[in-house]
Amino acid sequence: MCIPATIAIDGPAASGKSTIGYHLARKLNYLYLDTGILYRAVTWAALERDISITDADAVVALASHLDIQVLPPDKADGRQATIQVDGADVTWELRTPAVDKAVSPISTYPAVRRILTAQMRQIGQSGRVVMVGRDIGTVVLPHAELKLYVVATAEERAHRRQLERQAQGKTTSYEQMLAEIRRRDQIDSHRKSAPLRAAADAIHFNNTQMSIPEMFRAVEELVIGE
Ligand code: C5P
Repeated sequence: MCIPATIAIDGPAASGKSTIGYHLARKLNYLYLDTGILYRAVTWAALERDISITDADAVVALASHLDIQVLPPDKADGRQATIQVDGADVTWELRTPAVDKAVSPISTYPAVRRILTAQMRQIGQSGRVVMVGRDIGTVVLPHAELKLYVVATAEERAHRRQLERQAQGKTTSYEQMLAEIRRRDQIDSHRKSAPLRAAADAIHFNNTQMSIPEMFRAVEELVIGE
């Protein structure tokens, strides 16, 4: 079986797409890019600088000059990459509830998407890449050799996110998590510019009932044929 050089993985929040993507990239020794990080970096910087997320012009201006670096992990604290914004390590700041809340509205701005899509394509241009997001198979890398569309029920995804938060010593109720996931699904799938949807040639992968090892086995069989 011929291993695809460019792998695009899309799906809603907490569907397991980055766990799958990171695993595949390590297994194949490919570059891994979780594109949500770029949208989160712009969002974090806007919040940090008191820029209103409804001020599209100000957010676009910010996105156009922000220096976002996605680097190999330099700490063994569970991170998949080290993210620097204008030179500062903001890896964990990008995962706060405040960023979760503001990121989807910011991702609806077409000009922000154009700026970040260009950066994604540049990072992925040499191939041997696993790229994860919402519009990778449809917009960012429409010619990717393999496209996966990863889904799980909203209830299962809320449960997973809640466990993740608990492991970090934070408490969020299941109901709160479910509402947050549904809100992001709604905005991401209904925006005009590059909405979340499966590419026509994507393979659908539903992992609602799978443990992480089961999910890895199924994906390896699909992608690598082992
Ligand atoms: O994947 P993650 O939850 O980190 O993504 C955060 C947000 O970034 C998503 O809810 C979505 O609004 C946006 N996003 C996007 N297109 C991508 C990746 C992420 O619009 N390719």
